[in-house]
Amino acid sequence: MLVKAGPHHLLFDAGRGVVMRMAAAGTGPALVSGLFLTHLHSDHTTDVNDVITTRWVMSPAQNPLQVFGPVTTAGYIDATLAMLSEDISYRLAHHEDLNWAPPVVVSEVTDGVVFEADGVRVIAAPTDHAPVHPTVGYRIEHEGRSLVLAGDTVPCEGLDRLCAGADMYVQTVLRRSLVEQIPMQRFLDTMDYHSSTHQTGQTAARASVGKVVLTHMVPAPFPGTEHEWIAEVAEAYDGPVVIAEDLLVLDV
Ligand SMILES: [Zn+2]
Ligand SMILES: [Zn+2]
Repeated sequence: MLVKAGPHHLLFDAGRGVVMRMAAAGTGPALVSGLFLTHLHSDHTTDVNDVITTRWVMSPAQNPLQVFGPVTTAGYIDATLAMLSEDISYRLAHHEDLNWAPPVVVSEVTDGVVFEADGVRVIAAPTDHAPVHPTVGYRIEHEGRSLVLAGDTVPCEGLDRLCAGADMYVQTVLRRSLVEQIPMQRFLDTMDYHSSTHQTGQTAARASVGKVVLTHMVPAPFPGTEHEWIAEVAEAYDGPVVIAEDLLVLDV
């Protein structure tokens, strides 16, 4: 998810294909003011290496990438840079005007304001995606508007705090009635650490958010059944509900 606020492009998580999607959205890794990770599950981080490498080779001068994420993120970035060490050595040997390794600055975050510049504020709070721990969600504020990117989480106190009065609440969501039918334990296991459609509606209603956006839908909805997902959210929440798709642009 890319957030454009004031002069800043802020990237939240970096799953499969994120650099290609950024190009289609008219930006790129060299232009972001920060990469904010909610947690280190592979579907949210698999292309962090691509963000690091593309920013490094596309920047004419040293352009440190600021990475924000839960405690454990520093180790993840160190391991990613170690994985890239051969590629880094090839490029350093080849390009005379490139004599620095990818500069990455990591801030491990838990709770409170983590980024503040030019009237744009990003606030983190702990979420509950157990047994994945720690995890965080983010609230972005700019010019009196507020957006929550919850990440993978079940309803919890930290999520309620982030969502309180937000104009838009984006939730990775699971539909229990479908997952329950999949006869495989590892799919059934996902129900205990994702917000269901019903829980998403309950969180939204409790926090009086202005709009709900569903993303990262588990399982991927059959075309034509999207209204069923929205109806389940609407059982608890009477505001607008939108289903996200790649490259969808929403104004907060
Ligand atoms: Zn996850
Ligand atoms: Zn996920």
